[in-house]
Amino acid sequence: MRKPLMAGNWKMNLSLNEAADLLAGIKEARADLDTVDVLVAPPFTTIQLTHTMLAGTGILIAAQNMHWEQKGAYTGEVSPLMIREAGCSHVILGHSERRTHFFETSEVVNRKAEAAINVGLTPIICIGETLQEREEGRAFDVIRKQLDESLRTRCQAVGLPEDLILAYEPVWAIGTGRTATPEQAQEVHSFIRRWLDGAFGPDTGTATRILYGGSVKPENSKELMAQSDIDGTLIGGASLKADLFLSIIRFYVD
Ligand code: PEP
Repeated sequence: MRKPLMAGNWKMNLSLNEAADLLAGIKEARADLDTVDVLVAPPFTTIQLTHTMLAGTGILIAAQNMHWEQKGAYTGEVSPLMIREAGCSHVILGHSERRTHFFETSEVVNRKAEAAINVGLTPIICIGETLQEREEGRAFDVIRKQLDESLRTRCQAVGLPEDLILAYEPVWAIGTGRTATPEQAQEVHSFIRRWLDGAFGPDTGTATRILYGGSVKPENSKELMAQSDIDGTLIGGASLKADLFLSIIRFYVD
């Protein structure tokens, strides 16, 4: 049984005071952790505050990015060891905003995934097609290529962690208010699961949690979560409001 995971990606939002207010609200999710895992991904500057405020709650913390080297002359970068020391157990890699605005390739994601695994951080690897790629009927080819390049080679060499997380995030659905239909998302999730079995051996797909991300809100999360291969959601905008985030976390409550 894969335990659902609801993850909030704060992106480049929230001052320390705003983050403290949000965290005070999110702490209530403690009561739900028998049924669902909860994770927040604050910006680097807010990780320590998040770690302090969520201490003892069981709510997980991810960084939104990291460098692939553990230390050295990389001005402006933050290393896997640094984010782990600051309180992260997870790291989001290959978010489409990083691929688009910072030209992050799947090969870079692969290097970062290896580095994360090497220090015991769990990667949350994001993949997804653009609207043009979907309209041209290339969505599955694009996703297969992203999976091949982000996960094979280096990850095969170090071994995938059992708790690896993938996130299918169609680029056209992120921050646009447009969501993939539950059927569209399910089709891709099932494809990813089969790819995992083929690349890493039978049962890898069954064991791996695959999240859906792209304009998830309380109104659409329940339908998405009803799909057999959707194990949770990666939530941007709606994770910045405690009431919205909590109501998505409680998807199983009427
Ligand atoms: C995201 O940041 O990964 C995301 C899916 O954002 P939003 O929920 O705002 O579309």
